[in-house]
Amino acid sequence: MTIDQFLAAFPTDELGREMFAMAERLYPVCRSITGEGLRETLREVGRRIDLTMHEVPTGSRVFDWTVPKEWNIRDAWIARLDGTRVVEFRNSSLHVVNYSVPVRGVFSLSELRPHLHSIPDRPDWIPYRTSYYAPDWGFCLTHRQLEALREDRYDVCIDSSLEDGNLTYGECFVPGRGEEEVLVSCHACHPSLCNDNLSGLSLVTMIGEILPKLELRYGYRLLFVPGTIGSITWLARNVQATARIRHGLVAACLGDSGPLHYKRSRRGDAEIDRAVALMLRGKEGSSVESFSPYGYDERQYCSPGFNLAVGSLTRTPHGGYPEYHTSADNLDLIRPDRLADSLRAYLEVFAILESNATFRNNNPMCEPQLGRRGLYRAVGGLQDVKSAEMAMLWVLNLSDERHSLLDIAERSGLGFDSISAAASLLEAHGLLERVIGGDAFNWRADGPEPA
Ligand code: ZN
Repeated sequence: MTIDQFLAAFPTDELGREMFAMAERLYPVCRSITGEGLRETLREVGRRIDLTMHEVPTGSRVFDWTVPKEWNIRDAWIARLDGTRVVEFRNSSLHVVNYSVPVRGVFSLSELRPHLHSIPDRPDWIPYRTSYYAPDWGFCLTHRQLEALREDRYDVCIDSSLEDGNLTYGECFVPGRGEEEVLVSCHACHPSLCNDNLSGLSLVTMIGEILPKLELRYGYRLLFVPGTIGSITWLARNVQATARIRHGLVAACLGDSGPLHYKRSRRGDAEIDRAVALMLRGKEGSSVESFSPYGYDERQYCSPGFNLAVGSLTRTPHGGYPEYHTSADNLDLIRPDRLADSLRAYLEVFAILESNATFRNNNPMCEPQLGRRGLYRAVGGLQDVKSAEMAMLWVLNLSDERHSLLDIAERSGLGFDSISAAASLLEAHGLLERVIGGDAFNWRADGPEPA
């Protein structure tokens, strides 16, 4: 089965439900850029797809960075001296500043205050804070909880550890017929946050469940990495392998009710940038923005030394919704139908990449006679006839070895699927010859240099 055939019978409800259920299961886990929460999350992914878990020791140099100590947390609280707990880690993994050093002691409220974080404008939400690369500790709480704290002495405990250990990341490779690869990367390091983390994680897992059942031209390399340090670590260990990456997407924020949004790769006009823009054409509210060196792991994939053709396809982008990086980015913010719609969009992009090719018209002197070959009025029902013929005329006219099917779809305004179907039909009748694309696909000038 091809991706197109899979899309034709896309089981929206079932896939949406499954992705949402995965987010539900993983929601309570306290993840971080290292540690058991991250491992537990990757093990859950590994129960569904063929995932290799890599462990990279603390202290490993990865370009300009060093793999940090491994952080683990068992429990944490702020309690009154009578034992009543006023902040309780077990109620939300966001209550502790991620990567807090261990703390145990009695503190006055004024001593404690510099370590307490809330959002005054959103008094019922807990913020998400981290202190990965500077030793610190703290609690995040709702502003109501903070306001309710009286001048008093408090028993404070963060039962965490920061020790030599490993950074863990997961990698799944789905082979295709050719050597070239599509990279799909998501971050797996945020604690109880749904849209910014679990939506991407469950969508990429689902891609890993679907693709092995399909016929593929490209190999698909799926990465589940802790943000920033994880993609840097993967790149440092796979410099050579990046030469095979032809296209890529960073997956995040895919379950909210906003429209689809695409951030272009640093190259700006790579095939992936054009394929996504074409997929989004006509989708209500969708938008495309230029690359900027801020956001998710595209920052690393698009750093100048790699300059991979990797963009980021999201719904509402990071920071663009009020619940971002707060406890309100919870299971109520994401919806099964939105997850399914995002997954469909990813597969539609892959379908374009899989079928894109460049042809030569074997009858370039005037139009070939389609009627004689049974191609005139040959396709589909009456209403499809016109667009199928238009697609054939466009493909014949622009197939001069210099225009790909993507070029033709862009220029004609017709859907990629009808352009692609027309090319297949014309190729089958010997009117077109494939010059670039498909199994014989080779390196092109705008691809990454083989290392
Ligand atoms: Zn985030």
